[in-house]
Amino acid sequence: MNVPFLDLKAVNARHAADLKAAAARVIDSGWYVLGEEVKAFEAEFAAWVGSPHCVGTSDGLSALILALRGWKELGLLKEGDAVAVPANTYVASVLAITENRLRPVLVEPDEATFNLSAAKLSAALTPDVKAVLAVHLYGQLADMPDIAKLCRERGLLLLEDAAQAHGAQVDGRKAGAWGDAAAFSFYPGKNLGALGDAGALTCRDAKLAEMVRALRNYGSHVKYQNLVQGPNDRLDELQAALLRVKLPHLDADNARRREIAQRYRRELRNPRVRLPSVQADEASHVWHLFVVRVADRPAFQQRLLDRGVHTAIHYPIAPHQQAAYAQELGQLSLPLTEALHREVVSLPISPVLNDEQVAHVIAVVNQA
Ligand SMILES: *Cc1c(COP(=O)(O)O)cnc(C)c1O
Repeated sequence: MNVPFLDLKAVNARHAADLKAAAARVIDSGWYVLGEEVKAFEAEFAAWVGSPHCVGTSDGLSALILALRGWKELGLLKEGDAVAVPANTYVASVLAITENRLRPVLVEPDEATFNLSAAKLSAALTPDVKAVLAVHLYGQLADMPDIAKLCRERGLLLLEDAAQAHGAQVDGRKAGAWGDAAAFSFYPGKNLGALGDAGALTCRDAKLAEMVRALRNYGSHVKYQNLVQGPNDRLDELQAALLRVKLPHLDADNARRREIAQRYRRELRNPRVRLPSVQADEASHVWHLFVVRVADRPAFQQRLLDRGVHTAIHYPIAPHQQAAYAQELGQLSLPLTEALHREVVSLPISPVLNDEQVAHVIAVVNQA
């Protein structure tokens, strides 16, 4: 039996007729950039997240960059300010900070959840830290009740990197509705994936939403008038129309991911494989990835592959050990983050896996 890590063709084949109809609607409209589809998707996604504002962007990284850039333009952050971020995040979180000439303060994660904890965050705060970038890594909401409380008490801006956590919630409040602002990615492999690059910012403050709307469009809020110097980071009509087809199915997809994760957590019992844990209730995790830890990773992956189970590594190199950050962060020692990067393996988890494939993964891992 073959279990691909992620079969994107199968993911989208379920909606092929509706996706083709949506694409045809855009093609026939003659309007391809910043039109009715983007406006409608922004309203639908804001309502789904439970956030007052949504601004579509070209991708997740640009949403992260523009959130911080927006705060700079509004005078809430300035060049050189520090931003606390989990050290084991995907490099894009850190890129958003350095792209704005802000300084990343890398915080070791909580070992059980792979996420920032309020305690470790609190210990890392210095007077230079003006904002926190909380990442809901692998789909699990970070400890937002405590992190949001800490940020309120210390007067810190709170940005969520929700690129992997569409729908993760605690106390009925979803990722994207906890921070002052949040960035989502709709990269094809994410829980809500476009058929190309796409992203969005959600936020509470109408002024930030207005600023990011201008920033994504050359810094222009009115055609040919430029408030500030901005890039072209717009979400396009075609991707927005395709996302509108897929958004109504996101809850069902997340439920299927949860079902598979529950089986893995119940039935995987190989003492050499450390399973992920869920901090709050089941709703707090949308299982973008099912990440286990093993000591002998290359051999483990090979044994699985020999029996048709494809795995992946998220991520093989920590941001502070990337060549791109050799100068700025290369001298840091972050033992837990480094151990995680040596040991993590992602098992297949996708809404299109069938029960036989899930059973095969379980059997193969238990025998590995
Ligand atoms: C995917 C991802 C991003 C970047 O999103 P893109 O749309 O690929 O630019 C940022 N942060 C995290 C945690 C991600 O997983």
